[in-house]
Amino acid sequence: MSSLLSGMGPYCLNNFCEALEMPSLHKKTFNKFANRLYTQNQRLSNEIFSKAASIVRKEHIGLYSLEVGEDYVIDISVSFDGSWLTRGHKSLIGIGCMIDVVTGLIIDGHVCSLHCHICAQAGEFIRRETPHRYKQWKQAHITKGECTINFAGSSGMMEVKAAEVLWSRSVERHKLLYTTMVSDGDSKAHTMLLELMPYSPDEEVQKEDCINHVGKRLGAALRNAVSDNSKREVTLGGRGRGRLTAKAIRRLQIYYSRAIRAGKTPEEMRRNIMASVHHGYSTDDLPQHMFCPPGPDLCFYKKSIAEHMYPSGHKKRVHTPLDYNLLHPYLAPIYERLASLELLKKCQLKTTQNPNESFYHSVWSRCSKKNFHSLKRVEFALFSAAAEFNDGPVGLAVIKRSLGFQVGEHGHRVGQARMRKRLYKSTQEQQQKAKKRKKVTAAAREKARQEKEAEEGGPAYLSGIF
Ligand SMILES: [Zn+2]
Ligand SMILES: [Zn+2]
Repeated sequence: MSSLLSGMGPYCLNNFCEALEMPSLHKKTFNKFANRLYTQNQRLSNEIFSKAASIVRKEHIGLYSLEVGEDYVIDISVSFDGSWLTRGHKSLIGIGCMIDVVTGLIIDGHVCSLHCHICAQAGEFIRRETPHRYKQWKQAHITKGECTINFAGSSGMMEVKAAEVLWSRSVERHKLLYTTMVSDGDSKAHTMLLELMPYSPDEEVQKEDCINHVGKRLGAALRNAVSDNSKREVTLGGRGRGRLTAKAIRRLQIYYSRAIRAGKTPEEMRRNIMASVHHGYSTDDLPQHMFCPPGPDLCFYKKSIAEHMYPSGHKKRVHTPLDYNLLHPYLAPIYERLASLELLKKCQLKTTQNPNESFYHSVWSRCSKKNFHSLKRVEFALFSAAAEFNDGPVGLAVIKRSLGFQVGEHGHRVGQARMRKRLYKSTQEQQQKAKKRKKVTAAAREKARQEKEAEEGGPAYLSGIF
């Protein structure tokens, strides 16, 4: 098991043992042990992913203060991505996995394989020597569940297939609906989901970034407030100035998402969000721009003050007017909940991270991309990496124990050290990315300045002139 976790095959293990003057395992014995471990794959995956899914459910129920029972199906946003064993589009093995956006836990994963060792060797032999028996043999091979080919098509489509498998079992396995998919540019999987419609004919799987998902919560909460109160004969929507119309809700939702994007810290995000609604409450008699950012850029009121003009004209210049007396009692609790620092902290993290990549790195370190591996081995790597990714060294220890291995203090210590290193590396990478971005924008600005100067006939400093 240790050699599988560290990415060593039988040959590597032999070399390692040789150097240490230790007895080693024959390749066949190694494979026998490995296969015995692989028979536990299914159980492992169930254990790991069900645990993650139940945490995700709990978090979502708490976060959005839902009052629901055990069986209630919750919709969540996931980030989905694929990865291949070999580069290019000839890989025989591909993985797709999804991570919950709010908690950052791996909740499911699927491995696609185009290769089967038995088919490639014994199968080919039979086909060559006794072709009339091949069909029968192949049938028996598949019925016995030995065949590891679970996919037909081009390697590029593996990601799509994985998405199909994961989406179609989400409700049955986890009681979760993956209604929003965060994906980086490549949307072949999303196009397939639009065709497949895994949940119901009128529920499209959205593709967007996580901030918009939280924004959608605001839209839903506001619409609910309107419909709930209309039952109590209080009209928040309807016609007229300052009402919570469908258009106003749409705009508030956009302001909310923008406010989160613009804020660098959760506090700043919260302030921006509060500004978006209080700016709307303002009238000439009762201006409420206390949250609006200072400076002339965003708020006309602050602009007038900066220019020493008398601020007026709220009627014309507030784009989304809201009736303070009517709406504030209903909006205040909604905004309090959706602009809570706790919630915003999570948005801040998730928009800057690509946890999927980091996870795949950990998977491929368990079965090196340099060599070919069987489906079962990649699955084992995926599940053990997921356990560690979700729970840290503790997760791995649980797996080891559940497979009947001992876990000592030493293993725990090494695991902790690896975890610290991973965290350090991920912060470093983020800082480096930010630096790179700054450089690019600075260079672009400089170039624009030079071009402008050249146009105006001013000094044009070209590089290399001196
Ligand atoms: Zn086969
Ligand atoms: Zn304002």
